[in-house]
Amino acid sequence: MIRADIAVIGLGAMGAATLYQLARMGVSAVGIDRYAPPHSLGSSHGETRITRLAVGEGQEYAPLVIRSHQLWRQLEAETDEALLEACGFLMMAPRGVHTGHHGKTDFLNKTIGVAQRHGIAHETLDAAQIAARFPCFGLTGEEEGYFEPDGGFVYPERCIAAQLRRAQALGARVVTGTRVLTMRRDGGAMLLETDAEPVLADQVVVAAGAWAGGLIGGLAQQVLVPRRQVLHWFAVEDEAAYAPGACPSYIWMHGARPEDYFYGFPSLPGSGTVKVASEQYASACDPDTVDRAVDPANSAAMFAEHVRGRLTGARAQPSRAESCLYTVTPDSNFVIERLAEEERVILASPCSGHGFKHSAAIGEAIAQLAVRGKPELDLSAFRLANYAPAA
Ligand SMILES: Cc1cc2nc3c(=O)[nH]c(=O)nc-3n(C[C@H](O)[C@H](O)[C@H](O)COP(=O)(O)OP(=O)(O)OC[C@H]3O[C@@H](n4cnc5c(N)ncnc54)[C@H](O)[C@@H]3O)c2cc1C
Repeated sequence: MIRADIAVIGLGAMGAATLYQLARMGVSAVGIDRYAPPHSLGSSHGETRITRLAVGEGQEYAPLVIRSHQLWRQLEAETDEALLEACGFLMMAPRGVHTGHHGKTDFLNKTIGVAQRHGIAHETLDAAQIAARFPCFGLTGEEEGYFEPDGGFVYPERCIAAQLRRAQALGARVVTGTRVLTMRRDGGAMLLETDAEPVLADQVVVAAGAWAGGLIGGLAQQVLVPRRQVLHWFAVEDEAAYAPGACPSYIWMHGARPEDYFYGFPSLPGSGTVKVASEQYASACDPDTVDRAVDPANSAAMFAEHVRGRLTGARAQPSRAESCLYTVTPDSNFVIERLAEEERVILASPCSGHGFKHSAAIGEAIAQLAVRGKPELDLSAFRLANYAPAA
């Protein structure tokens, strides 16, 4: 039997950050994962994740990403590893068209509103200014843009690995290749049955990503819906034109419909490729049986619908493609809270396709919630009860 004050189920983006912060607080903590993170079977792989400080998803998110940037820099200093690339972030939309994204209407103007309210450095650009600054983009001349110099991307696998290494160095226990099967109250503690040694802990943090709903059941299972996504890498003729800085990380809404949308990244040095993706919300999946292979027709459609003509010099033949899992709530907001029906369990399912950038601060806030009873940052917007049938 493994004993700890706090057990963290799942060591991806949220679990690794939580375990690291618990270890920093000197708490006896164990992290358990069915695989060996960082791995490519959940939601946190594929080399890069966009980070932007002015998040159009809502004012309540800005403090999380602002704090995360501080924590990534702190972790970089501790580990001597590059985690956050502040190469700039650009959002483009057709001028005067109020395209929605991540469950929010008029995403571009919402983003500008968050930047203004939180004093985040930014510029608004017209198409000529975007074209002059970033010649890699093929524009129609009808675009308008938001540019954030401190945005860019993080390296998800490196962030997870660094936090797990630091957590272990600070005394946390990491158990990989072990699946938690059930959890239940056992006297004054929680007992986790696993496919190896059981775990007894005073509190449990469920950070199981696409598997979280299944583990908790009930309303959580109805609300947290896994959806398969695909990442595509296309070769570019001129890698220098897509180097970080010459090219920002970006979100590009090129029409009025939610599907007129894709996002992408600069070329990682020496790769000769750029990574791009769109999003799908039409079909759900089971994370245990999802088809992880990518049909080449899917990459061909990505190129035809989004990339062609917009990324100058991108080649149609994909060089690589990978599937990945979003865990999506009905309004694309997060769920992070102590469960009403079991006060010893904290659920952290902050995904809906935009969670990584916030994960360092979410880990810190969850550790504070578990240890001190209250986080410094306000998590009250992210309640499961928001989705209760009566709400
Ligand atoms: C394609 C794609 C692109 C994205 N782009 C962005 C972006 O640009 N910017 C951004 O901010 N966010 C982005 N996101 C979202 C972000 O990556 C997620 O919010 C984040 O990775 C979710 O982390 P997680 O810890 O909840 O899940 P995961 O990282 O998947 O971790 C869950 C862990 O739980 C483990 N686990 C599950 N069940 C059990 C069990 N029973 N027992 C033990 N272990 C278990 C799994 O093995 C896994 O390691 C993207 C996501 C995807 C999929």
